Amino acid sequence: MKSLNLYDIEDLRYEEIDKPVITSPTDVIIRVKATGICGSDTSRYKKLGPYQEGMTFGHEFSGIVADVGSQVTSVSVGDRVTGCPAIVCHKCTHCEQGNYSRCESLYVIGSLEPGCFAEYVKLPESNVLRLPDTVDFNTAAMVEPSAVVAHGFYKTSMEPGATVAVMGCGSIGLLAIQWARIFGASHVVAIDIDDHKLDIARTLGADYCINSTRENLGKIIDTLPYHIDVAVESAGALSTIGPVLTLPKKGGEVLLLGIPYADIQMARIQFEKILRNELNVIGSWNGLSAPFPGKEWSSTLHYMSTGELDIKPIISDVLSLKNGPETFDALVNKKRHFDKVIFTP
Ligand SMILES: [Zn+2]
Ligand SMILES: [Zn+2]
Repeated sequence: MKSLNLYDIEDLRYEEIDKPVITSPTDVIIRVKATGICGSDTSRYKKLGPYQEGMTFGHEFSGIVADVGSQVTSVSVGDRVTGCPAIVCHKCTHCEQGNYSRCESLYVIGSLEPGCFAEYVKLPESNVLRLPDTVDFNTAAMVEPSAVVAHGFYKTSMEPGATVAVMGCGSIGLLAIQWARIFGASHVVAIDIDDHKLDIARTLGADYCINSTRENLGKIIDTLPYHIDVAVESAGALSTIGPVLTLPKKGGEVLLLGIPYADIQMARIQFEKILRNELNVIGSWNGLSAPFPGKEWSSTLHYMSTGELDIKPIISDVLSLKNGPETFDALVNKKRHFDKVIFTP
């Protein structure tokens, strides 16, 4: 089968490899129909993280069940599905307590096991979820990042009527805007440095958009007719992790979703907001809870089926897998603008 395999820094190859085969009675093999590039993929492509040389890359996907092991009962051949790409041990204390996102040996396919930038991918039955009929494959390729964002929102103490600010309007931020609405926000403030992303943010439910390169963020926040209850950091950028602390009201919450790929520095005055304003800073990792893989996944599928999670405006490119090497190169070296990129193997 065709696949995209990572060999070294910026060395991604489109090549022929063997199809996965059933080796355990709970294995499910899926014919991949759509698979997305995640921010963590571009970071691994640039710097390598956990990976094995030549490993098939990618972890966000949807597809059709092609083969099942002898003990699989929840899905059958021909079912439309998506996969939770996180593999946990189900044995450590955290797993026993249902806190699967804290599993001591959590990893995601595409790093230590073959991923989904391929025609076929294999997962355990417990990681495979059936799609509602109304959810198309491209939308379903974004179930995983949506579950990751939902996981963070479940950790907040948001109540209906809250005001949420989202800093960074990449895929994660654009999902956060929609999850904020689903969790009952009456106002959503979107902040980015790119007008194009802010336009998408507005389409997806942000009612106040701020371009922080042109406008004085602090001044604008002070003049808003409402206080910010929850500020979401969804860029993982040096330029957002400090400023996001200045956004919430006293006693408010900061939800950290973005993963920084460099050391963080911030002004003392920004850090001091945590203390002086008695902020509750919430870290969130992956998107897992009990029963595995968790309500993050079932609620994502539900809100995708109702249209309250709208993925189409986030997708800028639907490409063939063979365009993978040049697409990663263009993306990482900023040769042109991309929003979410989907490959159709
Ligand atoms: Zn991802
Ligand atoms: Zn575990």
